[in-house]
Amino acid sequence: MINLQRFCAVPGIDEREYLHRPWRDGDWTYATNGHVIVRTREFDDTVADKHSRSPARAVEMFAEWHNKHGHIAMKPMPELPHAQRCKVCDGAEHFMSVKCPDCDGGMFVHGAHEYECQNCGDSPIGVGFVVGTGSEAKRRPCESCMGRGFEQTTHRLAGTGFELGYLQWLAALPGPVSFSLYPNVNGASGGAFFAFNGGEAILMERKD
Ligand SMILES: [Zn+2]
Ligand SMILES: [Zn+2]
Repeated sequence: MINLQRFCAVPGIDEREYLHRPWRDGDWTYATNGHVIVRTREFDDTVADKHSRSPARAVEMFAEWHNKHGHIAMKPMPELPHAQRCKVCDGAEHFMSVKCPDCDGGMFVHGAHEYECQNCGDSPIGVGFVVGTGSEAKRRPCESCMGRGFEQTTHRLAGTGFELGYLQWLAALPGPVSFSLYPNVNGASGGAFFAFNGGEAILMERKD
């Protein structure tokens, strides 16, 4: 079973709830975080049916690729360098955490003044929370890597820059994995289309 959840938006980082889990549309199950979109023919009945906020744009992008660019030859996915693990969470993506005991949302009142809390000021899951365990503890995404577990690095495929961590996720899908760049229009490629055994994906270009 493909881990589609990995391609969904991360709760606590991206508040678009309708992107927090995969959804089903026609014969395909989709997942996206807005940078990468994956669809597979695998059916997983834990995946919700099409819901009202299913992003139609994600579905259209695949139709557009096939209609306009489907004739472009695919190339095998090349060997990729390893993506660097996030230095803050060491690739764990999340921390178990509790509300900061010293403040309310990063601020506390002392006498007549309000102060920024020093206890959670540089917390890896954001002000107002600290790493902790116990019955109150909740999983919260690492702020540094936005819950993705890797350091942001640009890797070029045929001259176009992509997020190396996402390329690694796509390369790990059931093979063979192949890709084709969007045709270059006015110097802007816009991204790449990927095919894997049982599905397809689109990855946005990383501009830096
Ligand atoms: Zn991290
Ligand atoms: Zn605090």
